[in-house]
Amino acid sequence: MQTSFGTGQTNRENTDLAFTDPLTGLGNHRRFFDKVERLIADRSDDPAPFAVGILDLDGFKPINDLFGHKAGDDILIQVAMRLRASMDSHSTVCRIGADEFAFLYPMVFSEEAATERARMLIEILSAPYDVGERTARLSASTGCSLFYSGEETTDILINKAETALYHAKRSGRGKVVVYTREMEEAAKRVTRIEQALRRAVSAGEVEPHFQPIVDLGTRRTIGFEALARWSDPDLGPVSPSVFIPIAEERGIIGPLSQLVLRKATEAARGWPGDLFLSFNLSPSQLVDQNTGLHILSILERTGFDPRRLEIEITETGLMNDPISAEKIVEDLRRVGIRVSLDDFGTGQSSLGRLREFNFDKLKIDRAFVSSILEDRPSEHIIRAILAMCEGLGMDVVAEGIEQEAQADRLVQFGCAGGQGYLFGKPANADATLGYLRDSFRGALRARAI
Ligand code: C2E
Ligand code: MG
Ligand code: MG
Repeated sequence: MQTSFGTGQTNRENTDLAFTDPLTGLGNHRRFFDKVERLIADRSDDPAPFAVGILDLDGFKPINDLFGHKAGDDILIQVAMRLRASMDSHSTVCRIGADEFAFLYPMVFSEEAATERARMLIEILSAPYDVGERTARLSASTGCSLFYSGEETTDILINKAETALYHAKRSGRGKVVVYTREMEEAAKRVTRIEQALRRAVSAGEVEPHFQPIVDLGTRRTIGFEALARWSDPDLGPVSPSVFIPIAEERGIIGPLSQLVLRKATEAARGWPGDLFLSFNLSPSQLVDQNTGLHILSILERTGFDPRRLEIEITETGLMNDPISAEKIVEDLRRVGIRVSLDDFGTGQSSLGRLREFNFDKLKIDRAFVSSILEDRPSEHIIRAILAMCEGLGMDVVAEGIEQEAQADRLVQFGCAGGQGYLFGKPANADATLGYLRDSFRGALRARAI
């Protein structure tokens, strides 16, 4: 190893290395902060704004898993080359994280111009990448912020771009978002909910409610879907469509889900033995290989028969990391747990998935059911889904049935299962038991409840 301390040349080389990303040759996060810092100093007496942006590759991890790390590195190098080639002489791009790049546009003075530049980068990155014999495609999301006054520091400016990026990621793939003050308010609210939820989960304060799933022909209840409910002393009741995504993003979904599953299976043990319990799993749980183990250990502890449990997953859950999801699904099915595809028809539906995965059941999304009476296309789509499920030997449940006429139409099309306010709203464990006492008097008496 060469040790040549002291020469000016080597010092410069060392400094260059410290500011360079070795994989792509672009500047690293230190270079980026340094550049922004200098530009802020330059603009101290010049009122012209400038723009910074952070670009994050969507779904890079599955590409790494699918093609290998060497291919992942090759793609990052190609991304870096394209980004560098698209910069003009004033602008800079650096690699500031594994699949995160940052750019600085000193001559971009408005939000519109920043958005346009960022869109162009996303467009450039969307062309296919060579990976040996194969090609891969990527999309990217970008958050931008503009420097307006001398009061802003590099940290604040980059944090704002990060906040905007977070909003871009949340609203789907390939989006550009420019920072606004409302985002900061929203981010604060999310943090408040996160903290309150962490406390509630450790105190065991999230409860399952149960919504009946019926045989549409006879109207008999055949099972229940467990739906998480949470009410905070200060925030009041918070909807699961708000707290579940926050739990996923902030890494609370595992413990939350285990709490709700434990309580749900404890409650469902007291129901007639032929009723199933359906339980939702979040996409992020399907990339965690411990999910299966956690579920099985809860069933063991509560003594709930795995053959009475169904797990609902969405297409998004399968998209993130199909290999991991498939493994978890196989583990669950091996012990007799059934697997349903939830909200079918809304996400990035891919019929290919239905062939790759063995689903026991498909749940038709409420959006189709709510328009079945007025809208011909919805009717055709539902009929096509029913025919497909019959061919593939899958059970079907139509979600969100609110009117008799909708139920009638679904029966007429041959849909066997239904769920919705028409048959019952989600209710807590006690109310559910009361409902079952009324409808299954004989069966429950036999079990001495
Ligand atoms: P989902 O799994 O599709 O659940 C069905 C949602 O539709 C529930 O909303 C239910 O209350 C609502 N719903 C049922 N019937 C009707 C109807 O006739 N009309 C209308 N307008 N709505 C109806 P909810 O309880 O607000 O849950 C929202 C979503 O939150 C669920 O959608 C599910 O994705 C998620 N979620 C709820 N609990 C859990 C949980 O324990 N774990 C996970 N991972 N996700 C959960
Ligand atoms: Mg569901
Ligand atoms: Mg659903």
